[in-house]
Amino acid sequence: MATKIKDNFATWINGSLADCSMGPEKAEPCRRLILLGPPGVGKGTQSQLLSEHIGACHLSTGDVFREAVRPSGCPRTPAMEAALDYMNRGQLVPDETVWELVRERSNCLHCQGGFLLDGFPRTLYQAEALNQFMQDENLLLSAVVNYQLPMSEIIWRLSGRRICRECKAVFHLTQRPPKTQGRCDLCNGELYQRGDDHPESISVRLEVYENSTAPLIYYYKHKGLLLSVDAHGTPEDIFKRTLTALEQRQPSPQ
Ligand code: AMP
Repeated sequence: MATKIKDNFATWINGSLADCSMGPEKAEPCRRLILLGPPGVGKGTQSQLLSEHIGACHLSTGDVFREAVRPSGCPRTPAMEAALDYMNRGQLVPDETVWELVRERSNCLHCQGGFLLDGFPRTLYQAEALNQFMQDENLLLSAVVNYQLPMSEIIWRLSGRRICRECKAVFHLTQRPPKTQGRCDLCNGELYQRGDDHPESISVRLEVYENSTAPLIYYYKHKGLLLSVDAHGTPEDIFKRTLTALEQRQPSPQ
């Protein structure tokens, strides 16, 4: 499963330049999910756990931007350079750039294994664009999982978060410390603090979340797709709550 996840990650990052080497394995049931919630609520960690469990690919728009910073990452077009400036300031990348990037990777939205969208959509424009695309392609969204946590805890989580450069596993200095300081438990990769997890960027990101992304909660509630999950506790606690919420909901028939 670890190799499969790595291959799917490469396909998502490289977009139209790469084919998914694993091929579309059909998952039963096929889940197409959006994970919603403020930055730092644990969407990345839950995506990893869910991806292992239900076989769906973890698709994070933030990962694409972060990979573009690396010398071996995806091509640095002028639009991508501009996008990275927005990211480093903790601001949202313009909708047109983000939607272009997702459309280039729309193969991943067709995957028969399903998908877990993390960090996308983040604005009503993006949600509408995705909605229209899925309607046109006869794809059904299974559910939108909305993780809830008070802002004080979000700030604590973001400032202690550390990420593995290689496999993207997420740690926390006190809540989920690595066994060896600065090294990933899973692949021994180097752990780093994201530039936008520094205090100046955190406050901008939380404000942006309230203004631009929180309205999506009502958007998806109105569509009857919203599942709210309490994000207190350990990743395992939250994962169990997520699975319970998903099990109580009928999966999409496709
Ligand atoms: P994330 O890893 O999802 O927290 O994303 C990191 C940063 O990438 C965000 O703070 C934004 O600057 C940018 N970004 C990622 N996804 C989006 C999106 N859907 N819309 C706009 N900006 C995004």
